[in-house]
Amino acid sequence: MRKVAFVTGGSRGIGRAVVRHLAAEGCAVGIDYLQARDQALALERELREQGFECLAVQGDVSDREAVTAAIRQVEEAFGPVSVLVNNAGIAGQRQFQDLTDLDWRRFFAVNLDGAFYAIQAVLPHMLHEKRGAIVNVSSIWGLRGASCEVAYSASKAALIGLTRSLAMELAPSNIRVNCVAPGVIHTDMVEVLGAETLADLADQTPMGRLGTPEEVAAAVAFLAGDSAAFITGQVLTADGGFIL
Ligand code: NAD
Repeated sequence: MRKVAFVTGGSRGIGRAVVRHLAAEGCAVGIDYLQARDQALALERELREQGFECLAVQGDVSDREAVTAAIRQVEEAFGPVSVLVNNAGIAGQRQFQDLTDLDWRRFFAVNLDGAFYAIQAVLPHMLHEKRGAIVNVSSIWGLRGASCEVAYSASKAALIGLTRSLAMELAPSNIRVNCVAPGVIHTDMVEVLGAETLADLADQTPMGRLGTPEEVAAAVAFLAGDSAAFITGQVLTADGGFIL
């Protein structure tokens, strides 16, 4: 049976790789984007040319109405969402004493509230069908500390807490909730750190390199798919051994 997936922050980086992977597996995919309309439409075009079903929709995950409306647009096109990937996220480095209220709220609004809103938008149908898979993209920095990344790290740790508790709550309804915690992955998000820091992070990674978006997408697709039918509440690291 064809599944309908919704991927937040799907126009680039890890989200785009997840969209491509799920589409190739036969899902109809909603590609949520914030501002990168051109990139999202290019991805939509690329996948349609390959014969896949997808739809690019604008939706700020930190705005309940916006993300819910984006999900409804995808549901109108393809039917109810049974796979939700909460991938949208923001990162940033700042010393703790310099964090403003606004900074703090923004990290939590995108990285945590975004998942809360999107999950609540897809849940009624999942509960009705007693079927669904939710994958939250956390981070290794949600599992261990990161200097100058307190807000990011705290929001990603909270996402892991959400995952575990919600997995328990939804398990009787056959809805699985899991997390992928990527290590350092070569995307626009980490590009800002500069070549020297990235080389240092690659050195700190036991596998001696940064990960690729496709490698994270494979972990997300595994948890979203039927091969993981008895797996819920887990945090799967895709980090080249970084936090072992
Ligand atoms: P990225 O910056 O390329 O992608 C993030 C995506 O989220 C972008 O498309 C962005 O537009 C979108 N986004 C941001 N705010 C949004 C909002 N309010 N509403 C909708 N979309 C929004 O970075 P990425 O590396 O592909 O990151 C994807 C996810 O993986 C993020 O949650 C990130 O925290 C997580 N992650 C990344 C790394 C890494 O090393 N790259 C490591 C661990 C975790």
